[in-house]
Amino acid sequence: MPATTNVYLDELDAFTYQQRLSANGGVVLIPAGAIEQHGPHLPLNVDALLSRRMAGATAEQMDGLVASPITYGYKSQQRSGGGNHLPGTTSLDGAIVTAIARSLTAEFARHGARKLAFINGHFENYQFLYEGVDLALRQLRAEGVENLKVVLLSYWDFVDDITINELYPNGFTGWDLEHGGVLETSLMLHLYPQMVNMDRVEDIAPAQLPNYDVLPVRPELTPASGCLSSAADATADKGEILLKRASTGMASALQKELRNDQR
Ligand SMILES: [Zn+2]
Repeated sequence: MPATTNVYLDELDAFTYQQRLSANGGVVLIPAGAIEQHGPHLPLNVDALLSRRMAGATAEQMDGLVASPITYGYKSQQRSGGGNHLPGTTSLDGAIVTAIARSLTAEFARHGARKLAFINGHFENYQFLYEGVDLALRQLRAEGVENLKVVLLSYWDFVDDITINELYPNGFTGWDLEHGGVLETSLMLHLYPQMVNMDRVEDIAPAQLPNYDVLPVRPELTPASGCLSSAADATADKGEILLKRASTGMASALQKELRNDQR
């Protein structure tokens, strides 16, 4: 048998998957992305690609397995993703994201997984994932499954202040405005350079958005590029640092929450 360190469970055969799942204590990381416009220089599937690779780099450091990503996500909002009115953005209703998170939690529990983590890569998903997990746990408890533990996180929350100061020497505008900006573009330059077109980056000032939402959206509030900040300073080297630091931080949080009470 070839030595395998592949953490992506959907690339394994079913028997190897079952074996690895029982050997690793039932740890599965579920990436959650979106299909959303990311400006003229990035593809629509950035959040699905990056959440999967972030989960992969994390799983490698803590003997986890990575599930197929949730490819679609909750509706893009103007203050964090440009807005759901933009072309290409293809979103799910909140109840559907909740139902997907609930179903997947129950499915991996059925496989024997007892330590799950949702690795979110799309800002707007978070509370719907949380709700789905909460409903699944309530149901599983009623069915007698008591020992399931689930961690939810968004990967950018594991980029620490030292890294932020290092990578954003001219000031940091906040993760909500990082849509199509330095973070995602650098990670894409590192992991999928062939999918990035830096010639098409629009070097704009960070978007000025009100501290409230309006529905229906006022399209003129979103910069024409669909990005909320400039990606001009993005580099593959920054992407490598971001992947390494965020995944190390996530692996240590997951070790702490999922592993320490078990081995
Ligand atoms: Zn994104």
